[in-house]
Amino acid sequence: MKNVYLIAAFLLGYTTSAFAQYKGLDVVKVADSQQLYENENIHIPNIDGYKTLKCDFHTHSIFSDGTIMPEERVWEGNRRGLDAIAITEHIEYRPHSSFIKADHNESYKIAKGVEKNANIIVILGAEITRDKPLGHLNALFLKDANALNVEDPLIAIDNALEQGAFIMWNHPGWPNDTSTIYKVHQELIKQKKIHGVELVNGFEFYPIAFKFCKDHNLTYMGNTDIHGVYNQTYRTDKQYGPMTIVFARERSVEGIKEALFAQRSVVKFGDMLIGSESNLRALVKACLPYKIKSIKGNEAIMEINNKSTLSFYLQLDSKIISILEYGYIEFKVRLDDKIKFTNTFITDNSQLEINITELK
Ligand code: ZN
Repeated sequence: MKNVYLIAAFLLGYTTSAFAQYKGLDVVKVADSQQLYENENIHIPNIDGYKTLKCDFHTHSIFSDGTIMPEERVWEGNRRGLDAIAITEHIEYRPHSSFIKADHNESYKIAKGVEKNANIIVILGAEITRDKPLGHLNALFLKDANALNVEDPLIAIDNALEQGAFIMWNHPGWPNDTSTIYKVHQELIKQKKIHGVELVNGFEFYPIAFKFCKDHNLTYMGNTDIHGVYNQTYRTDKQYGPMTIVFARERSVEGIKEALFAQRSVVKFGDMLIGSESNLRALVKACLPYKIKSIKGNEAIMEINNKSTLSFYLQLDSKIISILEYGYIEFKVRLDDKIKFTNTFITDNSQLEINITELK
């Protein structure tokens, strides 16, 4: 019989004398439980009454035009610190179909197999893939993605809606670098058949489209649309991978679905935060508890503690004050001042502003 030794403390480090224990062993195995996971460690506190969940609603695997297996996509989500990930293969574009024979639910089923161990919620989605003007749309929270495999994309949307799906209009500025809301989108929005817009997709974002969400009461969304390996695609440690921050009643598929239909989300892309005024306000208030330390006449000393790993940039008159992750600052304000949060966006032309008196 071979001598097999299981190392229980591989990562604790070895002294030279420990190597002597290897004498006569055929195989040394490192215990899986000893390999620590390190994730991007993005901490965002819960907001009043809701859990804050980090989600990516647009990902691909080898089952459409991605390059990795679906369960690896889920593990990547775990490393990113995500709470939920949607598997959204193209229905109509499957360049690997000559050697991958599967229906449109298979990649989700495989991904779902590691959901528990990876501690991340896996959502069944699909990407309805057409040229502009319609473009691409993700149907999320499906029960059977095969029902979307029909010629007419409007019927595919109806079939998704019949399953209770949430419909996201993907990357409005792709592929022609023009973010146009066409008549077909206006019609679909009017009929409540589009519920959200993907304002950030991978490394690009669509400032003009921020206003589509505000004007039409649609959910602000941002996702990776990742096809390759995450760590190869996002090579910096600056937490660039876009995500949709969702404020949900509970950490479950139903909780996330309810929150998206109720437009409770903010998009994070690097240091940018994009969302409706009320969602941004709730997020800022949860991340930046403040205290007025002292008041003298119309002037006050204000103290802010950042409880998150997000960074905030505040404009006060012409001064810019940055509060980096877990940072603490103290500054002088006039009580009639307004603070503008310059890294937040409601539209391409408006940012979150808070009156000091509102904070008092
Ligand atoms: Zn896609």
